[in-house]
Amino acid sequence: MVKYISTRGGGEAVSASEAILKGLAEDGGLFFPDHIPALPKSLKEFSEMTYQETAYEVMQPFLSDYTEEELRACIRNAYDAKFDTEAVAPLACVDGVYYLELFHGATIAFKDMALSILPHLMTTAVNKNHVKNEIVILTATSGDTGKAALAGFADVKGTKIIVFYPKNGVSPIQEKQMVTQQGNNTFVAGIHGNFDDAQNGVKKIFGDQEFGKLMADNGYQLSSANSINIGRLVPQIVYYVHAYAQLLKEGKISDGEPVNVVVPTGNFGNILAACFAKNMGLPIAKLICASNENKVLFDFFRTGVYDRNREFVLTSSPSMDILISSNLERLIYLIAGCSAKKNSDLMMQLSSSGKYQISTEMREKLQDFYGGYADEAETAKTIASVYGDCGYIIDPHTAVASCVYSKYQKETKDETKTVIASTASPYKFTRSVMKALGKEDSKKDDFALADDLHELSGVKIPEAVEGIRTAPILHDTVCEKDEMADVVKRCLGL
Ligand SMILES: *Cc1c(COP(=O)(O)O)cnc(C)c1O
Repeated sequence: MVKYISTRGGGEAVSASEAILKGLAEDGGLFFPDHIPALPKSLKEFSEMTYQETAYEVMQPFLSDYTEEELRACIRNAYDAKFDTEAVAPLACVDGVYYLELFHGATIAFKDMALSILPHLMTTAVNKNHVKNEIVILTATSGDTGKAALAGFADVKGTKIIVFYPKNGVSPIQEKQMVTQQGNNTFVAGIHGNFDDAQNGVKKIFGDQEFGKLMADNGYQLSSANSINIGRLVPQIVYYVHAYAQLLKEGKISDGEPVNVVVPTGNFGNILAACFAKNMGLPIAKLICASNENKVLFDFFRTGVYDRNREFVLTSSPSMDILISSNLERLIYLIAGCSAKKNSDLMMQLSSSGKYQISTEMREKLQDFYGGYADEAETAKTIASVYGDCGYIIDPHTAVASCVYSKYQKETKDETKTVIASTASPYKFTRSVMKALGKEDSKKDDFALADDLHELSGVKIPEAVEGIRTAPILHDTVCEKDEMADVVKRCLGL
């Protein structure tokens, strides 16, 4: 039975459902399983399973206090017709690599993979733990989590959701998706600041005991839909297992053959899920971590020093514009031999001086990782070349990964079969994509450009874009970064 402990050592071990309810541990640490379970079925058996069946087998060992009936119901309600393909997460073979398309959910980014199920895991946890309070989901977003969480939690009984996004740091379609969100329990606010400011503000509110008491006195309790919540991480392991099993089923790989995984990375949640899959026994060779110009992680893997003291760059891959990758804390804890003390010391240094250096011993445990980055020009060039060579249009985040993979291949000559996590539909970033293809018309808005992109690609415009073209704006709050707590109070009528 897996229990969850804080990466900083405080508090008691809690069950999966309690960890999901809390989001963040009380000492500011992240919940971590007391052991990583092995895959409960053989790869061959997985290759015969649907996405939903795989989801049950992979998640069950982590969510061991959920009954079979509860977990199966969560899965059934999550991975249904909200996805525009029965495969849920199909693989596209393009120029010898496999793009794992994680953008077929309601909000056309990979966040849907976990946020379609998190509300169900959360409401089940509420019932299991006899929680009487209303759950307030507090979320910072670099653009995609916000909408996916809003869509998941809208009108879910017993919950309210409040999302903060960087006012000038998301694409026009991302912003429109959020500010047109319906639902009586949804609140959205832009902040004058970047994603790190939003995430810090949210973490500060979580750590504020007085605020917590005020909430409790009024029948509320906070939780998180960010990837710091273990309920986000666990569902993300599923698609790596399923992708491998699909390749095996189609005879593209042999049983046990190692495969590389390339992940465009921001908060380090998606690639950490791949790392967990590997630790469960999935034959993953290299975990290739791709960054944009905010290349803190590239520098970290190269030098062993994490240093966020640098300029924050706004790029065409805004969901990766992050200097403090929260989930890296879980990897640090793991390579510190699950020493909460070592991890806490480093995290204290991060918060006081903005940097830390890991030991040689810890660095040796990072051999499976390879860090790379792509600048803006390289990213655009990659979109153009993949389209030019294969007629396949990728979004800027996926292009960062694709470019880093090309660099990796050039450098290492590694011929291992490779899966690239394709994290967003190009329709979410139409202007950047059309610009990269040399077909941007600056007089047209992003929706008109979506029509042009449709002409070019022949791929149907997703409902996620069609549905907001003319939708009314329902949220127009904008605040300073130090006003976030006040906004939360106002949303809750406190
Ligand atoms: C969130 C996001 C990422 C980064 O994922 P992390 O889990 O934060 O590393 C990459 N691409 C897209 C499109 C995203 O929405």
